[in-house]
Amino acid sequence: MTVKDLPPVAELSEQQQRGWRCVWCSFPVTVGEDVDLGEQRARPADGAAYSWFPRACADTEVCAARTAKEPR
Ligand SMILES: [Zn+2]
Repeated sequence: MTVKDLPPVAELSEQQQRGWRCVWCSFPVTVGEDVDLGEQRARPADGAAYSWFPRACADTEVCAARTAKEPR
């Protein structure tokens, strides 16, 4: 599965950074219906590097529809 580039971590909510909500549509993810995007490393310009754990909706069509409806 191809993963598109993740949004900048600084633009995501804490819930999205922790994998509780989809990184794309920020909808709460459901175990078994989500995609683990793997550990990511963030390197803020003004702080220490840290790990974050993005997750996304397994149903990309539904996710894309939500994203289109609620642009950030
Ligand atoms: Zn989503």
